[in-house]
Amino acid sequence: MTGTLPGQSLSGPLVEIRKLSHSFGGHKALNEVSLTVEPGSYTVLLGPSGSGKTTLLSIIGGFVHPNEGSVFIRGNDFTRAPPARRPTATVFQDYALFPHLTVGNNVGFGLRMRGVPRAARASKVRDALAMVGLADAIHKRPHQLSGGQRQRVALARALVVEPAVLLLDEPLGALDLKLRRQMQDELKALQKRVGTAFIHVTHDQEEAMALADHCVVMSDGRIEDQGPAERVYSRPASRFSATFMGESTLISGKILDLGMDEIRVDTQVGPLSLAGAGEPGFDVSLAIRPEHITLVPESGSVSLGEAVVTDVVFQGSFKRVLAVSTRDPDVTFIAKLRSSYGVAIGDKVELYATPADMVLLSR
Ligand code: ATP
Repeated sequence: MTGTLPGQSLSGPLVEIRKLSHSFGGHKALNEVSLTVEPGSYTVLLGPSGSGKTTLLSIIGGFVHPNEGSVFIRGNDFTRAPPARRPTATVFQDYALFPHLTVGNNVGFGLRMRGVPRAARASKVRDALAMVGLADAIHKRPHQLSGGQRQRVALARALVVEPAVLLLDEPLGALDLKLRRQMQDELKALQKRVGTAFIHVTHDQEEAMALADHCVVMSDGRIEDQGPAERVYSRPASRFSATFMGESTLISGKILDLGMDEIRVDTQVGPLSLAGAGEPGFDVSLAIRPEHITLVPESGSVSLGEAVVTDVVFQGSFKRVLAVSTRDPDVTFIAKLRSSYGVAIGDKVELYATPADMVLLSR
């Protein structure tokens, strides 16, 4: 049988957030945030501490009611609905498992609250635990499990109620780095397998890149940039997203004149021509990713001028090098160079980049 669930619209986004604003006391935690989430997608809310990620997630989950704006899920207005009435489930950073209940009873808790009969509950709990690879842990208690296992129990408990949207608030924050990276892979695979839309909050840009189909970069209660992670990385829309989602060298400048599909910019490191449009006299910034800065000219590259190396960090397959422009000491180049390059602190080097790899940003 095919069909739609009650209240489910046939088309349109799964979640639609319209112009949400929210203040705590006098502080504006969210400022006119609009966002859509597609069915089956993995959305990551990325931003520094205090940027409003958790507030946004809490409003979607019904734990906070916004001052302004609305939350539609499957075409229905849930802005004022309590959490239990929403087709959402939340995984918290501390997992919030009940210590006195077995793993099986933890996972079955939401089903019991919903009045699902014992036999159906047992079968759903077994399936959910098998899905996260913990079928054998059904009779254990949370304290007998590792951090990663507890995290998986929390996931099973949230997914067993078959939410339309799973909300995850820094779900890997309590794990050490190695386990965190491993759980990222598991989370992504699990999401693709179950097909539920996930909305995941993190301040870790590597985690965001590893997981997101749709990456939402937040700063100061606003969405700075959003789109596929690759696009946000390769063509960031703002200075903030160029430096928060991975590193960038930022060079300020003023548009000098326009050519055919090209502009000439008077920058802190000298005049540079690149593709783009704008008005002469406008202030702009150029953002260059570290892997696009080289020590030797390549076909099509241009000189960024001389710089003095101030830091070299060996990172296995590459060296992360910081170098300060001799023309303008306010410009610090960040370059990812092949480890075979012999650069040392104090070296004077000439740096290059290809204009096609420079991203033009309005200031
Ligand atoms: P973090 O990664 O540190 O959790 P975040 O991006 O999730 O940060 P929020 O927790 O949404 O940010 O907080 C946004 C702003 O709202 C912050 O300035 C925070 O101090 C404030 N805030 C959040 N919750 C409350 C609250 N319950 N009462 C008062 N202020 C709050």
